[in-house]
Amino acid sequence: MKNLFPEKSDIAIIGGGSAGLALAFHLAEQGNDRLSVTIVESRSDYQNDRTWCFWDFNELHEKLRPIIRKSWQNWSFSKGERTIVHHSAAHPYCAVSAGDYYEKVLACLRVLDNFTIVKNCQATSITTHKGGYLIATSQGEMWSRYIIDTRPPIHDYHLKKSSPSAPSYSEVFSGAILYQIFFGVEVELDYDFFDDSTVQLMANLTEAHNGLAFRYVLPYSANRALVEYTTFTPHFFAAQQLKSDCLSALEQLLGKSKFEIVYEEGAVLPMGFGGVKSSRSNLLYAGIVGGSVRDSTGFAFIRTQRWAARCAADLAKGRLSKSMACDTRVDEFMDKTFLRVLRKHPQLAPKLFMSMAQNLSAETFARFMMEKSTWPDYLRVIMAMPKKVFFQQIISTSG
Ligand SMILES: Cc1cc2nc3c(=O)[nH]c(=O)nc-3n(C[C@H](O)[C@H](O)[C@H](O)COP(=O)(O)OP(=O)(O)OC[C@H]3O[C@@H](n4cnc5c(N)ncnc54)[C@H](O)[C@@H]3O)c2cc1C
Repeated sequence: MKNLFPEKSDIAIIGGGSAGLALAFHLAEQGNDRLSVTIVESRSDYQNDRTWCFWDFNELHEKLRPIIRKSWQNWSFSKGERTIVHHSAAHPYCAVSAGDYYEKVLACLRVLDNFTIVKNCQATSITTHKGGYLIATSQGEMWSRYIIDTRPPIHDYHLKKSSPSAPSYSEVFSGAILYQIFFGVEVELDYDFFDDSTVQLMANLTEAHNGLAFRYVLPYSANRALVEYTTFTPHFFAAQQLKSDCLSALEQLLGKSKFEIVYEEGAVLPMGFGGVKSSRSNLLYAGIVGGSVRDSTGFAFIRTQRWAARCAADLAKGRLSKSMACDTRVDEFMDKTFLRVLRKHPQLAPKLFMSMAQNLSAETFARFMMEKSTWPDYLRVIMAMPKKVFFQQIISTSG
């Protein structure tokens, strides 16, 4: 892998985060040594900055599987005094630390001559030029035949713009039905406290921020866990504003005992936004802007890996589609209806998730979350919902 800024490239990937690196990894894995690939990345160094979770259907490439930090066969939901636990040995819930992912992918690319990564380089504009595109960056101009633009409109979701010319987050994601906003801290205790066999997926479900709120706990060991406060809300605000809610949730969990915060993360994810489709050939918006985030859940990591494998195969054949095309029509329809119900009836949301937890088996739930539902699964999901409000929503959307 080279580091010097090239004048031209066959494929330019703008943004070497989850989506950009996934595409580079799959291009490398599929043996594309004829195509030169350049990753333009604004950060000067990679650090661990987020945690990606998913239910395991063996979709993560075998070379990346060793970076799974921990997996759990149990996940729980709770509201008030009531707790429901799901168990699946076949499809456990897994966590990957982004720092491990960056390191692993960059190590795979390092040995390849046709890959270049230019760090500390901010792309500012893209214009058509001589059958391709000219990318203006903080380190100069580069020509490329194909562009995969993964720049999110803001950096790290702290509502700081990713470049001065970038549109605001709320402008880009104005179609979002709800925002998933969360703030989390990884804590270390000097005594054993957590039950590390069970993820608290949605604990203490309540109505808050005009939407839904819950605590999320990934117990890495008996004395170390990531504890997050999450809300699905129609309002757009910085994740850091939830820090005090997160610390209260932690206090509720641990009481007054001492803990050390070893890491923090936060996000504002658009739900029901769909993604920006490119109007230009050989240019694709990918990652969050391209619609990698699943409408109803905020999960994106495995969808991104699936897309990257498809996109790399297309590029090898000289094709680049104009959208990430992550959703089937049924999934999109179900997800949007679900979100509109949540937005309209926030008071129903805690009950609704408890009802899903109660009425779906762990396997059906995991398949639904990872877009692996069968037709009987869809039926089970619909039957698990409060039918009246759902049918009212379907009628009002189609009317
Ligand atoms: C804290 C957090 C936790 C999450 N947890 C989960 C989870 O559990 N499961 C899940 O499926 N999804 C999760 N997500 C959602 C989603 O998977 C991530 O946001 C994912 O990182 C999105 O990938 P991306 O490639 O679109 O953006 P990013 O990974 O943010 O990558 C964008 C890259 O572009 C670079 N960049 C920005 N501007 C420029 C510029 N002008 N020029 C050059 N480079 C630029 C950035 O530095 C960055 O490297 C989480 C997100 C966050 C923030």
